[in-house]
Amino acid sequence: MDSADIRRRFVAHFEAAGHTAVPSASLLVPDPNLLFVNAGMVPFKPYFLGQETPPWPRATSVQKCVRTPDIEDVGKTTRHGTFFEMCGNFSFGDYFKEGAIELAWDLVTKPLADGGWGLEESRLHPSVYEDDAEAVELWRKVTGLPDHRIVRLGRKENYWSMGVPGPGGPCSEILYDRGPAYGPDADLSTIGPDMPTELEDRFLEIWNLVFMQDELSAVRSKSDFDIAGSLPQRNIDTGMGLERVALLLQDKPNMYETDVVFPVIQRVEELTGRRYGADPADDVRFRVVADHVRSSMMLIGDGVTPGNESRGYVLRRLLRRAVRSVRLLGFEDRALPELFPVSRDKMGETYGELLTDWDRISTVAYAEEDAFRQTLRTGTTIFDTAATRVKDSGGSTLPGDQAFALHDTYGFPIDLTLEMASEAGLEVDEAGFRSLMAEQRERAKADARSRKGGHADTGAYRDVLGEHGPTEWLAYETLETESRLQAVLSGGRRVTSLAAGEVGEVVLDRTPFYAESGGQAADAGTIDFAGGTLEVLDVQRPVKGLVVHQVRVVDGELPPGAVLHARVDPEWRTGARQAHSGTHVVHAALREVLGPQALQSGSYNRPGYLRLDFGWTGGLSPAQVHDVEEVANRALRADLPVGWQYMTLPEAREWGALALFGETYDVGQVRVVEIGGPWSRELCGGTHVDHSSQIGTIVVTGESSVGSGNRRIEAFTGVEGFAYLARERDVVGELSTLLKTRPDDLVGRVSDLVERLRHAEKEIEKARVAQLLASAGDLAAAAEDLDGVALAGQVVAGAGGGDVRTLALDVRARLAPERPGAAVVIGTGGGKPSVVVAVNDAGRAAGLSANTLVRVATQVLGGKGGGKDDVAQGGGADASKADEALRAVRDHLAQGRPTA
Ligand code: ATP
Ligand code: MG
Repeated sequence: MDSADIRRRFVAHFEAAGHTAVPSASLLVPDPNLLFVNAGMVPFKPYFLGQETPPWPRATSVQKCVRTPDIEDVGKTTRHGTFFEMCGNFSFGDYFKEGAIELAWDLVTKPLADGGWGLEESRLHPSVYEDDAEAVELWRKVTGLPDHRIVRLGRKENYWSMGVPGPGGPCSEILYDRGPAYGPDADLSTIGPDMPTELEDRFLEIWNLVFMQDELSAVRSKSDFDIAGSLPQRNIDTGMGLERVALLLQDKPNMYETDVVFPVIQRVEELTGRRYGADPADDVRFRVVADHVRSSMMLIGDGVTPGNESRGYVLRRLLRRAVRSVRLLGFEDRALPELFPVSRDKMGETYGELLTDWDRISTVAYAEEDAFRQTLRTGTTIFDTAATRVKDSGGSTLPGDQAFALHDTYGFPIDLTLEMASEAGLEVDEAGFRSLMAEQRERAKADARSRKGGHADTGAYRDVLGEHGPTEWLAYETLETESRLQAVLSGGRRVTSLAAGEVGEVVLDRTPFYAESGGQAADAGTIDFAGGTLEVLDVQRPVKGLVVHQVRVVDGELPPGAVLHARVDPEWRTGARQAHSGTHVVHAALREVLGPQALQSGSYNRPGYLRLDFGWTGGLSPAQVHDVEEVANRALRADLPVGWQYMTLPEAREWGALALFGETYDVGQVRVVEIGGPWSRELCGGTHVDHSSQIGTIVVTGESSVGSGNRRIEAFTGVEGFAYLARERDVVGELSTLLKTRPDDLVGRVSDLVERLRHAEKEIEKARVAQLLASAGDLAAAAEDLDGVALAGQVVAGAGGGDVRTLALDVRARLAPERPGAAVVIGTGGGKPSVVVAVNDAGRAAGLSANTLVRVATQVLGGKGGGKDDVAQGGGADASKADEALRAVRDHLAQGRPTA
């Protein structure tokens, strides 16, 4: 039975039992505690936490999951993938333990012909939480199995919680005995509380049923928590690994050999010429490749791009491990273009977006492989240098910090370092490496802990929501409402009033205010009440369904009257609609100019301004930026209709609507905004104009980098766009007046001016030097007498080597010939000092040497010099030392000359 059939049967079984089939959510559903969705229940958390009312009492889904902690197990155990699909059924306060057990047991044991799995009862073992007597009783009742077939496990295995205070409860699993080929015999009625590791591959866990019944007040670890009481509403959450059932029904030894995953292994066999099944170490590599290719493809599909942090890093690691494993199997060319399409063809049957979005997905993956190949080349050079250094110093161990640097800075996997070291006859200080890795992991954990702050203090809001229900949100319909005050808060706590001047929060029964979301800033406006006015500073939705206005009391004291008049500033809203529609237009224009890989990764817009971040490597050329602006403004001139409609997520996908990665969309209906029909279709809850021409204008002001593989484009819209252009026009106007030219001639005129200025500066410089040269006579006349030697010295700022020499020779010629004399000139042209010393005949006769004197100077100047006795020259590095160098020559002459 192929995986698609298993999936279908699962959904059909639960649909027949009154469950609503809900499509898989993105792997990136935001959750402060998770990098990726790792279980079927994650998208339903708000229902389990009581934050939202589920639209149905029963649901079923087949959810994409990624579990990074399982990465080390991949290929080594028979049952762990980094990516897998979890089939689940969920009851929100509807059926409980007995229903869940019946439904699962029925599907597992029902004959194939009747739509079940047809698994042999004699091989099945239910497990329960050891204190859950009720579950034991129910398993006996439903399955008729004797007591000794039921396995009792402890908290670690069979008690579920989210790791934080909140719901928790015992679990029951269904284990399948695969026989002695997969592990030793064991009497399962006596094991526990833990499941021995050596039994886990034999007694394969295929399904986990979670009975949410307890309210936990503290969770210190998986097995250490406090149960405060019972949940008011008991829920069911189950998870069945699609791949695990597939391996049983397809009679395969492990999940990597099932129909969806195995074709990649076969392709690797073809590429490498090695046979799967011939060598245990190679086999692990085959399986790692097959698993990682699939998970990385699915992650890119949901919008992750490789990077050095969090999600991006996980993706990078998966891609690199895949590439690296293929290399270890002996294939050195680009591997991913050979393997990704194989996985796409299999997974694309279920996840059609892999096919429609293939350009982007493959581009991202292949670029990362190319970058890694470059890394391997660089890393190899660095490794070789380090290895040589170790050997040259007589050592035989590569230090741990070097291995760590290779890993951390160059992305060089440690197993690669180990292997290359052993080829080079070296060992690696693995302990040192591991302790540095451990330090890094600690830092990462601390980072993750700080992320948990996300849950912070929504308690008060949830109370308000519980009391009054969700806010009637009318931002799409109207700009003004008559509303009733439901709650006043200050500093996250309920208060009874706000005085004039105070800032606090108010919740109304209905509101026209747009709460910040989807990149669109919150509306501004006022809320009037009998005897006063509130200015709305911000609007947020801290818990789903509840709109909270942050306000300042302009006058009066809140509350007397219970009726308020909420009014969005219409100017503000017009600007906001222009900016948000403008963002969609710029996005579509970008994709038209750059191609469909240019996909928005984030955005922000407020009246008059928008910015959009998008995945793209390398900067845009000025021509590309110009084109984007042009395409965008053409779309405004074309006066395209803007519309929106609600549909299901699969329908939206079918329609080609772009979903922003990492956003949660309602499982029921999503809102698709389109501009000009298929030209721009995006999932979006924002406020928009009715026709594109109402955006007014889009003026792109810049394009820049925001981290690796991400660019940002910014623009002004509407009146702000015109204002920006008007400011530029004014600047041009002022300059034209100033320069007495027409705007069109401005560039020519300014570059002309710049050129002339540069020329004039040179002329001035020349004139100054000429003047100095002309002052040779004065310099000679001013020569100092140092113990019978005439020294004429001068520092000439801005003079270069040639001028310095001319001046020095000229001054020497003007010194009295009968007296020993020297001319020393130091120039600082071009920022570097140059020095020339010239000694007259009488000086040389008296034992003076230009060569010696120039060295005295250059020593101070930080350079070198030399020459003959009569003329010598040199240079230096530090022009600021020119005066000091001259003084050194003077001192030398004053001290060093023997008295005549
Ligand atoms: P195990 O102990 O085998 O790692 P688990 O206790 O982590 O499993 P649950 O968290 O209960 O598993 O997940 C529910 C079901 O999802 C499991 O019964 C199994 O069928 C499946 N599953 C869990 N992790 C993986 C994985 N890494 N790869 C494939 N299937 C998995
Ligand atoms: Mg696990």
